[in-house]
Amino acid sequence: MAHDANCIFCKIVEGSIPASKVYEDDDILAFLDLSQVTKGHTLVIPKDHVENIFEMSEETASTYFRKVPHIANAMKETFNVQGVNILNNSGEVSGQTVFHYHMHILPRYGNNDGFD
Ligand code: 5GP
Ligand code: ZN
Repeated sequence: MAHDANCIFCKIVEGSIPASKVYEDDDILAFLDLSQVTKGHTLVIPKDHVENIFEMSEETASTYFRKVPHIANAMKETFNVQGVNILNNSGEVSGQTVFHYHMHILPRYGNNDGFD
């Protein structure tokens, strides 16, 4: 499994940087984004260091994407959300700032951000 010693998300995977974990197994990690756009805003990453969608192998994609519905359902229960937006920025011009593939899952609560 690829690991980049300078990558902030690889450091979260190895545990040298803390994160609020939502889900973890051998292949995948989901944790709260430091900057919560809506309550429960989560990042889902493959543990395998892969820069973005253009670099992802079919093998990593198959272990990664098949887990996403399970994570979305766990968030639905935990945060009592009514819906989610799922998005990924791949490439600097798209707004990607951390170059370890991550999917944003943004809970939606109707006309508010979910914070009291
Ligand atoms: P991007 O712009 O690359 O799609 O998203 C990167 C996201 O990573 C941003 O929403 C940012 O708040 C989040 N982020 C950056 N550094 C950290 C960190 O150390 N911990 C956590 N939990 N999120 C981070
Ligand atoms: Zn990484």
